Amino acid sequence: MSTTNTLFIGGEWQSAASGAEFDTLDPATGQPNARVADAGAADADAAVAAARAALGSPDWAGITPAQRARILWRIGDLIEEHAQELAELETRDQGQPIGISKAVSVAGAAEHFRYYAGWVTKIYGETAPLSFPGVLQYTKREPVGVCALITPWNFPLMIATWKIAPALACGNTVIVKPAEQTPLTTVRLVELCRQAGVPAGVVNLLTGGPEAGRALVEHPGVDKVSFTGSTETGRAIIQASAGNLKRVSLELGGKAPSIVLPDADLDAAVAGCLQGSLLNSGQVCAAYTRFLVHRSLADEFAQRCAKAVAGMRLGPGIAPDTELGPLVSAEHRDHVDALVRSGVKEGATLLAGGSPADDLPGFFYRPTVFMGVRDDMQIARKEIFGPVLSVMPYEDEDEAVARANDTEYGLAAAVWTRDIASAHRLAGAIRAGTVYINMPNPLDASAPWGGFKSSGWGREMGRGAIDLYTEVKSVWTSLA
Ligand code: ADP
Repeated sequence: MSTTNTLFIGGEWQSAASGAEFDTLDPATGQPNARVADAGAADADAAVAAARAALGSPDWAGITPAQRARILWRIGDLIEEHAQELAELETRDQGQPIGISKAVSVAGAAEHFRYYAGWVTKIYGETAPLSFPGVLQYTKREPVGVCALITPWNFPLMIATWKIAPALACGNTVIVKPAEQTPLTTVRLVELCRQAGVPAGVVNLLTGGPEAGRALVEHPGVDKVSFTGSTETGRAIIQASAGNLKRVSLELGGKAPSIVLPDADLDAAVAGCLQGSLLNSGQVCAAYTRFLVHRSLADEFAQRCAKAVAGMRLGPGIAPDTELGPLVSAEHRDHVDALVRSGVKEGATLLAGGSPADDLPGFFYRPTVFMGVRDDMQIARKEIFGPVLSVMPYEDEDEAVARANDTEYGLAAAVWTRDIASAHRLAGAIRAGTVYINMPNPLDASAPWGGFKSSGWGREMGRGAIDLYTEVKSVWTSLA
């Protein structure tokens, strides 16, 4: 593959039909990393045609589940064999500290393929107790078809695997469209898929921006879209996919509340909240952002957070002692800064940070802690997706729950308490797809992941993803 032949269509690396290309930048320096192809509608047409042709091909539809499982397992092995290379590439393209690239992105990607390799031979149908005499009925789960997998820039490798692994496990063919800011590990992953024995046309890749994404979402030859990204783009995708009523699953924004009850272990709460809010510089849809802390603890909690973030080492992700890497782009850094400025203007008290780190090259932002944040402030309502913590004191539990739920989002939440009854009462009352009790916010391939309300549609991971990538067929047979 030469540098700009980053489209993979029907088993061939190629440039965009239009010849268009663009640079992907290293966010730690602002300098170009690589040049990649910028796919357009003609490339989307070619990729859809290749994926459709492969869907029923003997070397994909015709192989046994055991053979498909072996291919998926092999992809996991290859990811692990290339762990160091993939981790460095992710850090260079996305900015995340190398320790996170290794332990979260690359390790998570390998585990995801292994987890769904296990599912391939366990995608069962059912028989129902029909009230018709003399009839045998059973269900089968069949592939949905051609799936467009559109991914964001915060965890490009790992989120691509959340979609590719279950889609292949269920026998679909796919077209992956990574975010324009961070295509490089997806390009490498697609090469590894091919090396693992995925037949030509089963995994296709379009590097490019929103235009390539839109062309796939509107395409009548695409049966399903799986998207992770902003809520605004999620809404556009729902509308654009209406033509052929594509199956659509969406993992969108979040504004996770973290409720600290008066009996919480404050040391654990501060440490866990910092970890849960600052992973990948806060560029995490489940990041804890709204710290609803009981008034008796709020000042101390905020002061401790401010002290901790003020001492954090910012630097390029590739340096082993870096604690906080850059934001992904200059545009995103400006978005974070504009929201922080709005917080100051609306009257929140800034305890730490509050500005870009101009002494560093690249797109760094100082970790920021606000105290006295009101629910109506933009920093309490909008998704910041940066290293910004808002402490919001509350008086009683009902108030805390009501304010935690006062958001359009519902992806994740946290509760900190030593009392088991309070923990589960709040876990029940909070409207979010995942509630963490006394811990930060990790993910696991076997635990469902997705949101209530405007945080999306459907659940990835676990059995949920098998539902997303299969159609259920009911077969009736007369026994007469
Ligand atoms: P952000 O605004 O933070 O960059 P987006 O949610 O817009 O995030 O982007 C996530 C992914 O969606 C990227 O791969 C991007 O190219 C793609 N994308 C953006 N707009 C559209 C669209 N209208 N239709 C399909 N994909 C899109």
